[in-house]
Amino acid sequence: MRHGFTRLACAAKRFHGGGEAYSNSSTMFRFLKQRRRQRLRAQPFPPTWRSIITGNLPIFRRLPPEDQAELLGHVQVFLAEKHFEGCSGLELTDEIRVTIAAQACLLLLHRATDYYPELTSILVYPSGYTSYEARHLDGNIWDEGGEPRLGQTARWLGSLVLAWDDAKRGAAHPSDGRNLVLHEFAHQLDYEDFKTDGAPALATRAEYLTWARVMSREFAALQSAGETGTSTVLDTYGATNPAEFFAVVTEAFFERPRALRGRHPELYAQLARFFRQDPSRYSAEATTTP
Ligand SMILES: [Zn+2]
Repeated sequence: MRHGFTRLACAAKRFHGGGEAYSNSSTMFRFLKQRRRQRLRAQPFPPTWRSIITGNLPIFRRLPPEDQAELLGHVQVFLAEKHFEGCSGLELTDEIRVTIAAQACLLLLHRATDYYPELTSILVYPSGYTSYEARHLDGNIWDEGGEPRLGQTARWLGSLVLAWDDAKRGAAHPSDGRNLVLHEFAHQLDYEDFKTDGAPALATRAEYLTWARVMSREFAALQSAGETGTSTVLDTYGATNPAEFFAVVTEAFFERPRALRGRHPELYAQLARFFRQDPSRYSAEATTTP
């Protein structure tokens, strides 16, 4: 299905209504939330958690010291606010929670963040699982078959599902272009402007216009590459729809930034502007990659 990145409305939605009393309590709530998060970020980082991150996330050791410190602070907030649940008999450990949190928080560096506000629970399976969903085919015909999955998330559900073995493998191989955790959390960023359309919350209408222009062209190019079998930096799964495209380019941005910048400079520039990061500076990619 072909989509256009046509949404141009600014995401800076404001919830008015409820009067001054609502406004005051809302402001107080935000203030208290920010203060609680500041305290969490300032707490000493548990040495065992740090050992997990340095052992399981080779990319962490390549980050500048100030980014490392910011990431650890975000992990403290993330783990305090998100609920983890083991599925299919998986017993949750600090290794599972910290390894997932650290990857998810890589997407939050350098930006004002509300820590994936649509998300409350992370469900973790030991490995790939079967998702049973009713899918509408035509008329009154529905398919209720199971589908093998490594991860998924959706708006409004407040949950995100991951296969632990793939989440760990993705962290251990930071330059193969595939990362399940980055992929699923990119979907959560997509939801932050209340739409699922491959555009995260941008600051201005001009940014949305530029984003739409660049992403539409790149999305169409990936669809063509998929149809002709042309080799590409991006996984052609990203040609499924604009939402998957954003998740796939996020994986490539953090895992193969030099290749992405070399072959898709405008796309790279858009992502660098949104994420306020330049992963090509610390990437584990081979330096000979174009
Ligand atoms: Zn996806």
